[in-house]
Amino acid sequence: MTLTRTEVRDLLDRFDLRPKRSLGQNFVVEPNTVRRIAELSGVGPGDRVVEVGPGMGALTLALLETGAEVTAVEIDDRLVEVLDEVVGGRFGHLGAFRLVHADAMAADWGELLGEGPWTLVANLPYNVSVPLVCDLLDEVPAITRMVVMVQLEVADRFVAGPGEDAYGLPSVKVAYHAEARKVGRVPPSVFLPRPRVDSALVEVVRRPEPAVDADPGALFEVVRAGFAHRRKMLRGALRGLVDEEGLAAAGVDPTARAEELGLDQWAAVARQAGGVRG
Ligand code: SAM
Repeated sequence: MTLTRTEVRDLLDRFDLRPKRSLGQNFVVEPNTVRRIAELSGVGPGDRVVEVGPGMGALTLALLETGAEVTAVEIDDRLVEVLDEVVGGRFGHLGAFRLVHADAMAADWGELLGEGPWTLVANLPYNVSVPLVCDLLDEVPAITRMVVMVQLEVADRFVAGPGEDAYGLPSVKVAYHAEARKVGRVPPSVFLPRPRVDSALVEVVRRPEPAVDADPGALFEVVRAGFAHRRKMLRGALRGLVDEEGLAAAGVDPTARAEELGLDQWAAVARQAGGVRG
C-alpha cells in the first residue's frame, strides 16, 4: 500500500498544492521505488524508523507496511495536513505513526528520539542532504543506520575515498563515523516533478567507535581548512593550524593536497594541530 502517480496528482489537486522547489519537493510516484527503499532499509516489526521529509507519505506508507514504527519529521505545514489524512488515516489507530511538524535542521533530536537504535530512512530534500547527514552523524548517536536517497553527486561525495573527484569534507566525516556504500541508482522518471539529475541510495552504518582516535574538533578543523583550498598545498592551506614540521611529524608531505589524504593521515595531522597557534 503506497501512493501511485495518479493518487499523488489527485492529492495535490484536492489540497491545492504546488510542490515547492525551495524545500526540495520531488515526490516519488512510483510504488516499486518506495518498496525497494523500504526493502533495502531492512526494517521490520518492532524497528524504529525516523523519516525526514515524508512529503505526501508514499515512503512512509511503505515503511509502516513493514511493521516498523515511524516518526516522520516534515517542515511544510501544508503537507502535515495531507499526511494526517493519508498516513494517519490508515495507520494512526495502530500507534505506529508519529508526525512531527519541524525543521529537521533545527529539531531537538535528543528529545525526539531518546535512546537508540533508530534507522533513518528518507528521500532527503536536496538542499539539506549533506549538512543533515553530517550533523546527524556528529550529534545523534541514537541513529545507528541510514538508508537515504540523495542526488547521485551527493551520494558520490558521501562514499568517495582519497584521490577521487568527489572526495571532500563530507566524505571524511562519513568515513570517521560510519561505513557507507551506494546501494542503488534511481532515475528522474520516478519523481513528480522530475528533477534534472539522477538520484542514488546510500546506506550508512554507524561504527561502534569512530574510525580513528583523534579529537573531532581538531580533526574537522584541519579537514575543513584543507578542503577550503583544495588546490593549495597543505603547507599553505593549513597555515596557522599546523606548520611544515608538524606535517612532516605526521608523516604527511607538506606539498600534498587535501584530496590525497586518507582518514588516518588527517588524524595524524590533527594530533599535530594546536602547536603553532600564537
Ligand atoms: N518522502 C517523500 C517522497 O519520497 O515522495 C518526499 C521527499 S521530498 C524529496 C523532500 C521532503 O522533505 C519534502 O516533503 C519537504 O517538504 C521536506 N523538507 C524539506 N526541508 C525539510 C526540513 N528542513 N525538515 C523537514 N522536512 C523538510
